[in-house]
Amino acid sequence: MLPFKLVYSDDYFLPIGAHVFPAEKYKRIHDRLLEQGVAEHEDFVVPKPATDQDVLLVHTPLYVQKLKTGTLSAREELEMEIPYSAELVRAFWLAAGGSILAADYALNDGIAFSVGGGFHHAFPDHGEGFCMIHDVAIAIRRMQRDDKIRTAMTVDCDVHQGNGTAAIFAGARIPTGPLPSISASPTLNPVRTAKMRGAHAGDVFTISLHQENNYPAFKPPSSIDVDLPDEIGDDDYLAWLDNALSSGLRQFETELICYIAGADPYREDQLGGLALTIDGLKKRDELVFRVAKARGIPVMVTFAGGYARNVEDTVTIHCNSVIAAKEAFSA
Ligand SMILES: [Zn+2]
Repeated sequence: MLPFKLVYSDDYFLPIGAHVFPAEKYKRIHDRLLEQGVAEHEDFVVPKPATDQDVLLVHTPLYVQKLKTGTLSAREELEMEIPYSAELVRAFWLAAGGSILAADYALNDGIAFSVGGGFHHAFPDHGEGFCMIHDVAIAIRRMQRDDKIRTAMTVDCDVHQGNGTAAIFAGARIPTGPLPSISASPTLNPVRTAKMRGAHAGDVFTISLHQENNYPAFKPPSSIDVDLPDEIGDDDYLAWLDNALSSGLRQFETELICYIAGADPYREDQLGGLALTIDGLKKRDELVFRVAKARGIPVMVTFAGGYARNVEDTVTIHCNSVIAAKEAFSA
């Protein structure tokens, strides 16, 4: 039995036909965790869909209405890059409900997963990049509305920048001045061209580590953006993550970390251009969990992207996140 819950439903499956996004990954992760004895049936909890009221905490009434009535324009559907259907709307509402439930469990147990979610390219008024609505933002706003938290931090390690997250939580931005010099960290062998930008004001602090030379072309500023060069490997990536986490937690006191654990920084990813190994990605998860646990900050985990040539690698990377949490939180 795990010391935390895994929120999951077979209906997380996204009905998008043949697509680079492996919609079957959620069920494969669920099945693999059971087969390998990482989790038991009792560790899983089934979510309910978010209500429209929950979704409206983040998204505009007009956009929600278009989704519910199937009246997106052709251009809007194209921008979403997944084919619209009423079933797909239901799957995204369920993903948002799953992240709400996972956030709630995380606040009680210290950590919880939604075996799905992480749709960080959705904006208040439109969807983009395989993301219809922003489940993580909805979960944060719902926890705030219920007075369970005042502040939250997103830690986005998907290879693509969290543009929707940045736009949703932008608030009024005040530059915080230069961040601590990267060369001041003893663990760092500075990477030539990576850079860290930062500015923050608001009740949600957003951190994004991503490949600079990748989608989205326009990257609205997060509280901290780490723009990584192509082909960065495990050690450099982990040093930048360590630096971004300590910098963020120095600047901002958070009551919840929403960790977006994309599998696409993997070197075999079809849509990514970084060079992390499966082992490096597990170390990434361990770092986030170790830092959060040491500071007593609850973590809600979602899975976001993952487009490895071999889908089993994507499944392994996501399952390893659960194993890393089991190791960190059983101790
Ligand atoms: Zn991605």
